[in-house]
Amino acid sequence: MSVELLANRINALEESATLGMTKRARELSAQGHKVISLSVGEPDFKTPKHICDAAKDAIDAGFHGYSPVAGYPDLRKAIADKLRRDNNLEWNPENIVVSTGAKHSLANVLQVLVNPGDEVIIFSPYWVSYSEMVKLAEGKTVICEGAFDNNFKVTPEQFEAAITPKTKVVMYASPNNPTGSVYTEDELRAIAEIVKKHPNIFILADEIYEYINFTEGGHFSIGSIPEIKDRVITVNGVAKGHAMTGWRIGFTASAKWIAEGVEKLQGQVTSGTNSIAQKAATVAFNGPLDEAYKMKDAYNRRRGLVVGLLREIPGFKVNMPDGAFYAFPDISDYFGKSDGKTIIKDSDDFCMWLLAEALVATVAGSGFGAPNCMRISTAASDEQLVEACERIKTAVAKLQ
Ligand code: PMP
Ligand code: GLU
Repeated sequence: MSVELLANRINALEESATLGMTKRARELSAQGHKVISLSVGEPDFKTPKHICDAAKDAIDAGFHGYSPVAGYPDLRKAIADKLRRDNNLEWNPENIVVSTGAKHSLANVLQVLVNPGDEVIIFSPYWVSYSEMVKLAEGKTVICEGAFDNNFKVTPEQFEAAITPKTKVVMYASPNNPTGSVYTEDELRAIAEIVKKHPNIFILADEIYEYINFTEGGHFSIGSIPEIKDRVITVNGVAKGHAMTGWRIGFTASAKWIAEGVEKLQGQVTSGTNSIAQKAATVAFNGPLDEAYKMKDAYNRRRGLVVGLLREIPGFKVNMPDGAFYAFPDISDYFGKSDGKTIIKDSDDFCMWLLAEALVATVAGSGFGAPNCMRISTAASDEQLVEACERIKTAVAKLQ
């Protein structure tokens, strides 16, 4: 008996490239190797103290039982207030559903909206789990690829050309994982103009990196455009901006009938998410945001450091990310080269070779729909980042 007995939907699923590489790096570390892990996209900061204190208070106050499936009322209100304060989005608590991380929220929405064969347009490069979530919902992925020279962003013309009568959802993240690109207000308004012409298309806007945005124009929520508001599902959470990855809190903000669909699904599959984390997240959403901005400043500084160092490596082509905490160099210059033992065919080979040769864990671009690139998380100390870039530079010098 073996894997072929697993359901087809699981055998058809790819392993998460981000989590897979992180697992490999942990295994090497456990064997005593000095691995620098820049694979997982996770803040290296601790959750701010006032948020942790709220969790301790929640335990003492006895929030030990099942919570309402869509989240505690005070949390849903805090999220509605946050959306009004930061995003110019007017939703009531009944439009909000809290889930076990933004990942869960995204998967829920696709399960709730997508019928078998429906097309989901994904702006590429995209976060690894998008395509697999669409697959699980039995949808058909339509990739719309942003060019390196347009900072990896999809143009309105490209988007319009990808639409067919079967298009049900378009999904993107801004700021983006893995490229760090930020769609400007003008760019998103142009996308919205196209969506206005197609009344059956929904927008799934992943705003999880909202607070890690280095642009002057700042963050823009496409859901704030009144004519399409009812067809935008905004997803966000606490993982990145508040350094709360392990707390597992995300949410959707959407039209009520979609929120009810998500709640129904959740009621059968997971129930309300962790009660203590919900109480901590309520404090996070209510603010203050000083700690979040301090972390953003640190990511901004490291972005300059890492991009500068990577640009010194021969053959690396490096864009300047406008947000999030990743660098995404094009490393395809090394494809076909060898250190005498291993031939590097593609980004997967390159990243596996780098892990073995330089003990630096990164993630291949292939999982993000960008097979010429690799992703490096900049959420690490300056010392680690400098050392990692030096190790990479020394290693690639061996490739001929
Ligand atoms: N969207 C993107 C683009 C991400 O990078 C992540 C990171 N895990 C998520 C969603 C999921 O966030 P969470 O940890 O809240 O599930
Ligand atoms: N979003 C992070 C990443 O891209 C977390 C890992 C994951 O959930 O995939 O690395």
